[in-house]
Amino acid sequence: MLRGKNAVITGSTSGIGLAIADALAAAGVNIMTNGLGSEADNRDAIDQIARHGTDVLFSPANMLQPKQIADMMETAERELGSVDLLVNNAGIQHVSPIEEFPIEKWDAIIAINLTAAFHTIRLAVPGMKRRKWGRIINTASAHSLVASPFKSAYVSTKHGLAGLTKTVALETAEFGITCNCVSPGYVWTPLVENQLADTAKARGISQDEVKTNVMLASQPTREFVTVEQVAELMTFLCSEGAASITGTNFSIDGGWTAQ
Ligand code: NAD
Repeated sequence: MLRGKNAVITGSTSGIGLAIADALAAAGVNIMTNGLGSEADNRDAIDQIARHGTDVLFSPANMLQPKQIADMMETAERELGSVDLLVNNAGIQHVSPIEEFPIEKWDAIIAINLTAAFHTIRLAVPGMKRRKWGRIINTASAHSLVASPFKSAYVSTKHGLAGLTKTVALETAEFGITCNCVSPGYVWTPLVENQLADTAKARGISQDEVKTNVMLASQPTREFVTVEQVAELMTFLCSEGAASITGTNFSIDGGWTAQ
């Protein structure tokens, strides 16, 4: 049922985004993949997605830049023919006490994690409405439901994404479009690996202690969520079976937010 549809997936050259691009391509979807760096820098990720035989385009659009986002969406419509599925997944993190939080980091996190989704959604919705079909998925986080210290900007954007998701769901419900967010707990990806050092510094503990006493301590399963598990949930949300699911926030967090 997804075969021949076209998807834009932001931040899909690594981690969770790459896993969802891989899974949707395996289901027959043509993919506009996106991430920082050049096409050559992202060759391995592009080849991984393309091995399923569907069309794969790469956009280096920086989610900090509304003009580049607009160019990416326009190119996807023109070259693929439509944007039927949109996954807003690009995201960054910075860990710091609020009184030391660098202003430019705050601005960048708001722009990449939240404002970029506003831009892609506002540009994708007209075509989806015309075609009376669409799937929008926002990668939120357990931090869309609960907070952790030293992550003020990230937690703010993820709570914001959950609100944006509900609003868009209501505005598009009569047009065959669904909009949901998926909220993973800790998934072992470069984003998580890169925050080990700063979290250790902010909390005054070792990096191993961050892994076991901070990250996995939040998750009753004591296991990292896998990128494949997140991709399977998102693929289901793109299916016809999920046509009545909209405006919802799906936790996939090993029980973290049940506590
Ligand atoms: P990752 O670092 O592995 O991948 C991030 C992707 O975003 C890469 O493709 C990168 O190139 C891209 N990206 C970063 N900045 C960008 C920019 N300015 N413009 C365009 N692309 C940009 O990260 P990940 O862990 O896979 O995270 C993906 C999403 O999942 C993020 O929104 C993150 O907040 C969310 N998330 C991650 C976890 C986790 O534990 N890893 C948990 C909950 C939510």
